[in-house]
Amino acid sequence: MKDIGPKDIENNFPLVSRRDGQETSVVRVGDVEIGGERLCVMAGPCTIENLDQLRDIASHVKDSGAVLLRGGAYKPMTFPYRSETAFELGEEGLAFMRRVRDETGLPLVTEVVDVRLVDQVAETADMIQVGARNMQNFPLLEELGRCGKPVLLKRHFGCGIRDWLGAAEYLYHHGNDQVVLCERGVSAAHTHEPTARFIVDIQAIPAVQSYSHLPIVIDPSHATFNRRFVPSISRAAIAAGADGLILEVHPTPEKAAVDPLQALSYEVFDGLMGDLRGIARVVGKTL
Ligand code: PEP
Ligand code: MN
Repeated sequence: MKDIGPKDIENNFPLVSRRDGQETSVVRVGDVEIGGERLCVMAGPCTIENLDQLRDIASHVKDSGAVLLRGGAYKPMTFPYRSETAFELGEEGLAFMRRVRDETGLPLVTEVVDVRLVDQVAETADMIQVGARNMQNFPLLEELGRCGKPVLLKRHFGCGIRDWLGAAEYLYHHGNDQVVLCERGVSAAHTHEPTARFIVDIQAIPAVQSYSHLPIVIDPSHATFNRRFVPSISRAAIAAGADGLILEVHPTPEKAAVDPLQALSYEVFDGLMGDLRGIARVVGKTL
């Protein structure tokens, strides 16, 4: 893999590179700021299952200190088959999200998987997520450059930081300077086992911060794929200087329609938020 060199900073990603003394950019999502002194915790279900459940999750995570609601209306699912227990609600899910935003005031982050859906998703989302698998979908990035909404750009599990910053540069180059990076675990030959499907690249936090002025958040849910590991990796990410986290939370985690192994219960999420408040103080941030 090629290392990042001076030519990249001049020619390949001049817009997202950090210049000497440049502060981290602050990205605004509704009235939430990402990249400043206040840590940003986004939380919610993997896929939106129904209105009552989304409402319940949103009010719980808000009470514990989350400031953005996550939830998938469109999902990049590994297999093509849908069933009563593996589904995406599409437009109906977006409508549920709008209802819950109206009721709770929480801004929404949701994924767009298809360039043909950018306008539809941008009408609802306060922040649009690019999933790991789409990080180098360049036509999608170009369209999101023009969409007028902040973007959460996940890192592909097979890409280095150079490629990731190249993808962020696409968004900037096409007109969008509201970009947050999200590390969600990388894949290696030895990682496809239950205790380590992906490896969380904690080192990417200081590395990205040295190359780029973009804020960076961590997704310990998809990175660990296992709720046993989510609290410790969340604490490590904040201790290492991340600007926030995106976490999957569910009232009955083992029954979640998608990603049931990794969702946190309300109780564990609440405890984790308490831990993070203490770590935030140590690293000079608030939560
Ligand atoms: C998600 O956040 O819902 C998701 C599918 O994540 P990733 O693209 O990181 O796998
Ligand atoms: Mn998920």
